[in-house]
Amino acid sequence: MKRCIAVALLFFGGVCLAQFPPDGRPQGRAAYPESEAAAAWRGLAASYVRTALKDQTLDKDPAFNARVDAVMAAVGAAVAAIDPRFAYASWKAILIEDFGHGAAAFPGETILVDAKFVRTLQLNDDELALILAHEAAHVVAGHATMKLSFMAEFLGKEKVPTAGTALMEFLAKDSYAAAFHPTAQLQEREADAVGAAIYFATGYDTQRALRLFDKLALLESGEAGAVTDAHDPAAIRKQAVCAVIAELQRIHARRDSVRR
Ligand SMILES: [Zn+2]
Repeated sequence: MKRCIAVALLFFGGVCLAQFPPDGRPQGRAAYPESEAAAAWRGLAASYVRTALKDQTLDKDPAFNARVDAVMAAVGAAVAAIDPRFAYASWKAILIEDFGHGAAAFPGETILVDAKFVRTLQLNDDELALILAHEAAHVVAGHATMKLSFMAEFLGKEKVPTAGTALMEFLAKDSYAAAFHPTAQLQEREADAVGAAIYFATGYDTQRALRLFDKLALLESGEAGAVTDAHDPAAIRKQAVCAVIAELQRIHARRDSVRR
Protein backbone atom coordinates (compact mmCIF):
# COMPACT_ATOMS: atom_id res chain seq x y z
CA MET A 1 0.00 0.00 0.00
CA LYS A 2 3.04 2.26 0.23
CA ARG A 3 2.40 2.60 -3.49
CA CYS A 4 -0.52 4.86 -2.55
CA ILE A 5 1.92 7.34 -1.06
CA ALA A 6 4.19 7.01 -4.09
CA VAL A 7 1.26 7.85 -6.38
CA ALA A 8 0.27 10.76 -4.16
CA LEU A 9 3.80 12.16 -4.21
CA LEU A 10 3.97 11.71 -7.97
CA PHE A 11 0.97 14.01 -8.23
CA PHE A 12 2.35 16.36 -5.64
CA GLY A 13 5.35 16.73 -7.99
CA GLY A 14 7.65 19.72 -7.87
CA VAL A 15 9.87 19.87 -4.85
CA CYS A 16 9.15 16.77 -2.85
CA LEU A 17 9.65 17.40 0.84
CA ALA A 18 9.39 13.92 2.25
CA GLN A 19 11.05 11.13 0.36
CA PHE A 20 9.93 7.62 1.10
CA PRO A 21 12.96 5.37 0.61
CA PRO A 22 12.74 1.57 0.81
CA ASP A 23 12.94 1.52 4.61
CA GLY A 24 9.92 3.84 4.74
CA ARG A 25 11.64 6.59 6.72
CA PRO A 26 11.45 10.14 5.43
CA GLN A 27 14.85 11.52 4.48
CA GLY A 28 16.04 15.03 5.07
CA ARG A 29 18.51 16.99 7.10
CA ALA A 30 17.01 16.80 10.58
CA ALA A 31 18.78 19.25 12.88
CA TYR A 32 17.65 17.45 16.03
CA PRO A 33 17.15 13.77 16.87
CA GLU A 34 13.66 12.67 15.84
CA SER A 35 12.72 11.74 19.41
CA GLU A 36 13.79 15.16 20.73
CA ALA A 37 11.86 17.04 18.03
CA ALA A 38 8.76 14.89 18.59
CA ALA A 39 8.96 15.46 22.37
CA ALA A 40 9.06 19.24 21.87
CA TRP A 41 5.91 19.16 19.71
CA ARG A 42 4.15 16.71 22.04
CA GLY A 43 4.84 19.16 24.88
CA LEU A 44 3.19 21.95 22.88
CA ALA A 45 0.12 19.80 22.14
CA ALA A 46 -0.11 18.91 25.85
CA SER A 47 0.06 22.59 26.78
CA TYR A 48 -2.84 23.39 24.42
CA VAL A 49 -4.88 20.60 26.02
CA ARG A 50 -3.98 21.76 29.56
CA THR A 51 -5.07 25.31 28.66
CA ALA A 52 -8.33 23.95 27.23
CA LEU A 53 -8.91 21.98 30.43
CA LYS A 54 -8.27 25.07 32.54
CA ASP A 55 -10.49 27.25 30.35
CA GLN A 56 -13.10 24.48 30.11
CA THR A 57 -13.02 24.59 26.33
CA LEU A 58 -12.60 20.85 25.77
CA ASP A 59 -15.77 19.76 23.99
CA LYS A 60 -17.84 17.54 26.30
CA ASP A 61 -20.63 16.48 23.91
CA PRO A 62 -20.41 12.64 24.14
CA ALA A 63 -22.09 12.00 20.78
CA PHE A 64 -19.85 14.52 18.99
CA ASN A 65 -16.72 13.06 20.64
CA ALA A 66 -17.79 9.50 19.78
CA ARG A 67 -18.32 10.49 16.14
CA VAL A 68 -14.90 12.11 15.88
CA ASP A 69 -13.27 9.13 17.66
CA ALA A 70 -14.83 6.72 15.15
CA VAL A 71 -13.64 8.75 12.14
CA MET A 72 -10.18 9.13 13.69
CA ALA A 73 -10.00 5.34 14.22
CA ALA A 74 -10.82 4.76 10.54
CA VAL A 75 -8.20 7.28 9.41
CA GLY A 76 -5.63 5.78 11.82
CA ALA A 77 -6.30 2.31 10.38
CA ALA A 78 -5.80 3.71 6.87
CA VAL A 79 -2.45 5.24 7.86
CA ALA A 80 -1.41 1.90 9.40
CA ALA A 81 -2.33 0.13 6.15
CA ILE A 82 -0.23 2.52 4.08
CA ASP A 83 2.80 3.10 6.30
CA PRO A 84 4.14 0.30 8.53
CA ARG A 85 5.80 2.85 10.85
CA PHE A 86 2.30 3.61 12.12
CA ALA A 87 1.08 0.00 12.33
CA TYR A 88 0.59 0.21 16.09
CA ALA A 89 0.01 3.97 16.43
CA SER A 90 -2.85 5.16 18.56
CA TRP A 91 -4.25 8.32 16.97
CA LYS A 92 -6.24 10.78 19.03
CA ALA A 93 -8.44 13.64 17.84
CA ILE A 94 -9.23 16.14 20.60
CA LEU A 95 -12.10 18.60 20.18
CA ILE A 96 -11.42 22.08 21.52
CA GLU A 97 -13.90 24.97 21.26
CA ASP A 98 -12.50 27.98 19.39
CA PHE A 99 -9.07 26.39 19.03
CA GLY A 100 -8.45 28.95 16.34
CA HIS A 101 -7.20 26.61 13.62
CA GLY A 102 -9.44 24.17 11.79
CA ALA A 103 -7.21 21.37 12.97
CA ALA A 104 -3.54 20.89 13.82
CA ALA A 105 -1.47 17.70 13.88
CA PHE A 106 1.33 16.86 16.28
CA PRO A 107 3.90 14.07 16.50
CA GLY A 108 2.58 11.53 18.95
CA GLU A 109 -0.35 11.05 16.55
CA THR A 110 -2.42 13.77 18.20
CA ILE A 111 -4.74 16.00 16.20
CA LEU A 112 -6.38 18.99 17.83
CA VAL A 113 -9.65 19.90 16.13
CA ASP A 114 -11.60 23.14 16.44
CA ALA A 115 -15.05 21.96 17.52
CA LYS A 116 -16.66 25.22 16.41
CA PHE A 117 -15.12 24.82 12.94
CA VAL A 118 -16.67 21.33 12.58
CA ARG A 119 -20.06 22.53 13.81
CA THR A 120 -20.11 25.73 11.77
CA LEU A 121 -19.27 23.91 8.54
CA GLN A 122 -21.63 21.07 9.51
CA LEU A 123 -18.99 18.57 8.46
CA ASN A 124 -20.22 15.07 7.71
CA ASP A 125 -18.04 12.03 8.52
CA ASP A 126 -16.57 11.92 5.01
CA GLU A 127 -15.47 15.57 5.18
CA LEU A 128 -14.14 15.09 8.70
CA ALA A 129 -12.18 12.03 7.52
CA LEU A 130 -10.62 14.07 4.72
CA ILE A 131 -9.52 16.73 7.20
CA LEU A 132 -8.10 14.16 9.63
CA ALA A 133 -6.34 12.36 6.74
CA HIS A 134 -4.73 15.67 5.71
CA GLU A 135 -3.59 16.26 9.29
CA ALA A 136 -2.30 12.69 9.66
CA ALA A 137 -0.34 13.24 6.43
CA HIS A 138 1.54 16.13 8.09
CA VAL A 139 2.66 13.65 10.78
CA VAL A 140 3.49 10.87 8.28
CA ALA A 141 5.60 13.31 6.24
CA GLY A 142 7.46 14.63 9.31
CA HIS A 143 6.55 18.27 8.70
CA ALA A 144 6.83 19.37 12.34
CA THR A 145 10.41 18.14 12.56
CA MET A 146 11.26 19.98 9.36
CA LYS A 147 9.98 23.22 10.86
CA LEU A 148 12.51 22.90 13.68
CA SER A 149 15.30 22.03 11.24
CA PHE A 150 14.42 25.21 9.36
CA MET A 151 14.83 27.21 12.58
CA ALA A 152 18.24 25.62 13.23
CA GLU A 153 19.34 26.57 9.74
CA PHE A 154 17.77 30.03 9.84
CA LEU A 155 19.19 31.10 13.21
CA GLY A 156 22.18 28.79 13.64
CA LYS A 157 22.20 25.92 16.05
CA GLU A 158 24.16 27.89 18.66
CA LYS A 159 21.06 30.14 19.05
CA VAL A 160 18.64 27.22 19.19
CA PRO A 161 20.70 24.31 20.57
CA THR A 162 17.72 22.05 21.30
CA ALA A 163 14.45 21.19 19.55
CA GLY A 164 12.56 22.79 22.44
CA THR A 165 14.38 26.13 22.07
CA ALA A 166 13.84 26.04 18.29
CA LEU A 167 10.09 25.53 18.77
CA MET A 168 9.77 28.26 21.40
CA GLU A 169 11.67 30.67 19.17
CA PHE A 170 9.49 29.79 16.17
CA LEU A 171 6.36 30.55 18.17
CA ALA A 172 7.80 33.79 19.55
CA LYS A 173 7.93 35.82 16.33
CA ASP A 174 5.62 36.01 13.31
CA SER A 175 8.64 36.83 11.15
CA TYR A 176 9.82 33.20 11.38
CA ALA A 177 6.46 31.96 10.10
CA ALA A 178 6.79 34.46 7.25
CA ALA A 179 10.27 33.16 6.38
CA PHE A 180 9.01 29.57 6.56
CA HIS A 181 5.93 30.37 4.46
CA PRO A 182 7.21 29.05 1.07
CA THR A 183 8.11 25.72 2.70
CA ALA A 184 4.81 25.70 4.59
CA GLN A 185 2.98 26.04 1.25
CA LEU A 186 4.84 23.00 -0.09
CA GLN A 187 4.06 21.11 3.09
CA GLU A 188 0.35 21.86 2.68
CA ARG A 189 0.40 20.61 -0.92
CA GLU A 190 2.19 17.47 0.18
CA ALA A 191 -0.29 16.94 3.03
CA ASP A 192 -3.16 17.24 0.53
CA ALA A 193 -1.54 14.65 -1.78
CA VAL A 194 -0.55 12.16 0.92
CA GLY A 195 -3.78 12.90 2.80
CA ALA A 196 -5.76 12.01 -0.34
CA ALA A 197 -3.98 8.62 -0.43
CA ILE A 198 -4.78 8.06 3.24
CA TYR A 199 -8.37 9.14 2.65
CA PHE A 200 -8.69 6.73 -0.28
CA ALA A 201 -7.63 3.88 2.02
CA THR A 202 -10.39 4.72 4.54
CA GLY A 203 -13.18 3.77 2.13
CA TYR A 204 -15.21 6.90 2.93
CA ASP A 205 -17.22 8.47 0.10
CA THR A 206 -15.10 10.73 -2.08
CA GLN A 207 -17.84 12.88 -3.63
CA ARG A 208 -19.33 13.67 -0.23
CA ALA A 209 -15.88 14.52 1.15
CA LEU A 210 -14.95 16.86 -1.69
CA ARG A 211 -17.83 19.18 -0.78
CA LEU A 212 -15.55 20.24 2.06
CA PHE A 213 -13.60 22.37 -0.41
CA ASP A 214 -16.77 24.12 -1.58
CA LYS A 215 -17.48 25.02 2.05
CA LEU A 216 -13.90 26.24 2.51
CA ALA A 217 -14.20 28.29 -0.68
CA LEU A 218 -17.23 30.07 0.78
CA LEU A 219 -15.18 30.88 3.87
CA GLU A 220 -12.40 32.27 1.67
CA SER A 221 -14.79 34.60 -0.14
CA GLY A 222 -15.94 35.95 3.21
CA GLU A 223 -12.42 36.69 4.41
CA ALA A 224 -9.97 39.39 3.50
CA GLY A 225 -7.55 36.66 2.37
CA ALA A 226 -5.28 35.50 5.14
CA VAL A 227 -1.73 36.21 4.01
CA THR A 228 -0.36 33.78 6.58
CA ASP A 229 -2.49 30.87 5.29
CA ALA A 230 -0.15 28.39 3.63
CA HIS A 231 -3.00 26.49 1.95
CA ASP A 232 -3.75 26.93 -1.73
CA PRO A 233 -7.23 28.24 -2.57
CA ALA A 234 -9.87 25.59 -1.89
CA ALA A 235 -10.75 25.14 -5.59
CA ILE A 236 -7.13 24.25 -6.41
CA ARG A 237 -6.89 21.91 -3.42
CA LYS A 238 -10.06 20.16 -4.57
CA GLN A 239 -8.52 19.49 -7.99
CA ALA A 240 -5.28 18.19 -6.44
CA VAL A 241 -7.07 15.79 -4.08
CA CYS A 242 -9.39 14.68 -6.90
CA ALA A 243 -6.43 13.89 -9.17
CA VAL A 244 -4.73 11.64 -6.58
CA ILE A 245 -7.94 9.78 -5.74
CA ALA A 246 -8.86 9.35 -9.42
CA GLU A 247 -5.42 7.87 -10.15
CA LEU A 248 -5.67 5.48 -7.19
CA GLN A 249 -9.17 4.45 -8.34
CA ARG A 250 -7.75 3.74 -11.82
CA ILE A 251 -4.90 1.64 -10.36
CA HIS A 252 -7.33 -0.36 -8.22
CA ALA A 253 -9.77 -0.88 -11.11
CA ARG A 254 -6.89 -2.12 -13.32
CA ARG A 255 -5.67 -4.46 -10.59
CA ASP A 256 -9.17 -5.83 -10.05
CA SER A 257 -9.67 -6.45 -13.77
CA VAL A 258 -6.32 -8.34 -13.94
CA ARG A 259 -7.37 -10.54 -11.03
CA ARG A 260 -10.65 -11.49 -12.68
ZN1 LIG B 1 -2.26 21.26 6.66
